Amino acid sequence: MRMLIMGPPGAGKGTQGVVIAEHFGIPAISTGAIFRSNVAEQTELGKVVSEIMNRGELVPDDVTTQLVADRLAQPDAAQGFLLDGFPRTVPQAKSLDEILDKLGTPLDAVLSLVVSDEVLVARMMKRAEIEHREDDNEETIRNRFKVYADETEPLLALYRDRGLLVEVDGLGEVAEVNDRIVAALEKKSA
Ligand code: AMP
Repeated sequence: MRMLIMGPPGAGKGTQGVVIAEHFGIPAISTGAIFRSNVAEQTELGKVVSEIMNRGELVPDDVTTQLVADRLAQPDAAQGFLLDGFPRTVPQAKSLDEILDKLGTPLDAVLSLVVSDEVLVARMMKRAEIEHREDDNEETIRNRFKVYADETEPLLALYRDRGLLVEVDGLGEVAEVNDRIVAALEKKSA
C-alpha cells in the first residue's frame, strides 16, 4: 500500500495516519513530525523551519521535497508507505510524481479526511491545550487554514481525476473513523 493522507489542519491526519500505517504494516511518514523533531533537536534544518512553522506558513518546496525523496529511498519504504502532510502544493505533487516514477512505485490511494470547519477549530483549540504545539495559537491556526484552502485543497481535484481519491467522514471517535477508513480503502482495492 502506497498512500497519502490529506485533510485540513485538525482533521486527524497524524492520529489516523499512524493507526492506518500500522494496519497495513507500512511506515507513516509525516513531514510535520519530521520538521518538529528537527526543531526540538535544534538541527540546521530545525533552525530554518522553526519560524516558518510558527507563522503557519509552508516550508519551501525544495527543502520539503528533498526531505521526502531521501525518506522514500530508505529500505523500510520499499514495501509501501503512508505520507502524511505531503504533498501540500502543486509543485510538491509534481515532484512526488517524479520521485515515484523513478522508483517505479505509483500511488494506490489518496485518503481525504472530511471534517466541518466548526469541528476543526474546536479540535485545534483543544489540541493547543493538550500538546502545547507552538503553531496551535489562534492567528497561526487561521493562517494554516488559509494556506490549506489556497495551496493544498486544489490537489484533491487532481487526485480525484486520477481515480485515486477516497473521501472519508472524519467525524467521530478515533476507532470509529479508523474502521471507516479501512473499509473504504478495502472497497477501493477490491
Ligand atoms: P503538520 O504537522 O502536517 O500540520 O505540519 C506542521 C507544519 O509543518 C506546517 O504548518 C508547515 O509549516 C510544515 N510542513 C509540514 N509539511 C509540509 C509540506 N509538505 N510543505 C511545506 N511545509 C510543511
